[in-house]
Amino acid sequence: MRMVKDRGSGVRFRATELTQEEISLQQEVREFLVEELRDAGFEPGLGMGAAADPDFSRKLGERGWLGMALPKEYGGSERGAVDRFIVTEELLAVGAPVGHHWVADRQSGAVIDKFGTSEQKRRLLPGICRGELGFSIGMSEPDAGSDLAAVRTRATKVEGGWSLSGTKVWTTGAHRNQWMIALCRTSDEPDRHAGLTQFLVDLGSTGVRVSPIPLLDGSVDFNEVELRDVFVPDELVLGDVGCGWRQTTAELAFERGGPDRFLSTYPVVTAFLREATVDRLGERTRILLGRVTATWWVLRNSTLALARAVDAGESPVQQAALIKELGTRFEQDLVEALQDLLDREPATDSPSSFERLLCAAVLTGPVFTIRGGTIEVLRSVVAKGLAR
Ligand SMILES: Cc1cc2nc3c(=O)[nH]c(=O)nc-3n(C[C@H](O)[C@H](O)[C@H](O)COP(=O)(O)OP(=O)(O)OC[C@H]3O[C@@H](n4cnc5c(N)ncnc54)[C@H](O)[C@@H]3O)c2cc1C
Repeated sequence: MRMVKDRGSGVRFRATELTQEEISLQQEVREFLVEELRDAGFEPGLGMGAAADPDFSRKLGERGWLGMALPKEYGGSERGAVDRFIVTEELLAVGAPVGHHWVADRQSGAVIDKFGTSEQKRRLLPGICRGELGFSIGMSEPDAGSDLAAVRTRATKVEGGWSLSGTKVWTTGAHRNQWMIALCRTSDEPDRHAGLTQFLVDLGSTGVRVSPIPLLDGSVDFNEVELRDVFVPDELVLGDVGCGWRQTTAELAFERGGPDRFLSTYPVVTAFLREATVDRLGERTRILLGRVTATWWVLRNSTLALARAVDAGESPVQQAALIKELGTRFEQDLVEALQDLLDREPATDSPSSFERLLCAAVLTGPVFTIRGGTIEVLRSVVAKGLAR
């Protein structure tokens, strides 16, 4: 891949390739997945929305494939973002059941490592690295999604800690996870970005009510989380009081720009190819597959470049936003193109794995360009980078 350089732009990707050692890791993960998922009953999932299987997550933890960039002192393997990229790319390509550890591994562990106290790290990071603890993201609220600085969930100082009240929404995994990192208002300041603080909320606390919100296909992945006078002790304030905005921006950089932003529909294509008959591989299909492969390769190499930049100590926020914008739009376009290849509506109970996966993609695909930041918002982040 050649270096992409825009006039006067701060949005660049540096060409890079996997080293021999990294290719060995890739091979090791592939062999593990063949062995683990060979069960005939295994049903691939779509990206980060795949099934949650604590046993599977625990096995990844045993191999040192969770919390890969976290310090060894807290159970991590200090291997960096590129190694994590390699592992996650392989997991997503086969539609592995990553739901239990996904958020904790992708961002919660990193944020705790960056801003948490050593006591918080000792308490929570080893469980994340072992694949035991599931975390939720407590950012969005009914009137604060893209405009996150509008959060109204309030944390009031009380003896020995804080009392949290308010409602979080679209909270992925809160019905099964143990912890949530909640962004709350701790003071009213003229600048809305000030006066926000992050809290580590034990989802089993008194006053937490989790109500699942079904997706279009009837499955449950996200929730409304009501907090009513939930007590959070001082030792579970994450980072500095009033610095929640800066910390959340750092968290969003971990959330965007990974292979989960362009590989959600990869298993649909592999299922299509597995089942493809000669008539399905006509010229139109071959042109489509050629385009898809080329786009994947560009997105994949850009994401690898981004991981390399993170390992070099950079903070490629705009690049991450660009990958998410391009990647999620591509995931959706692909679903539409695959639907066009079928001469009938796909059925959820079809004997064809391709059709079942395509159905799931049709029904859940609209979320791709919303979760983690909408395309309009991401374009605005990238534009600011280009203007620099
Ligand atoms: C599957 C899924 C999982 C999610 N999981 C979580 C989670 O675990 N935790 C969590 O906190 N949140 C989660 N979210 C919430 C997600 O981050 C928000 O839905 C998203 O940020 C958009 O916010 P909103 O829904 O309030 O829409 P709004 O912000 O109201 O946006 C509505 C529309 O207006 C557009 N718009 C808004 N502001 C601007 C602007 N300034 N310029 C141009 N256009 C604009 C948007 O692009 C969008 O099209 C999840 C969402 C989904 C779909």
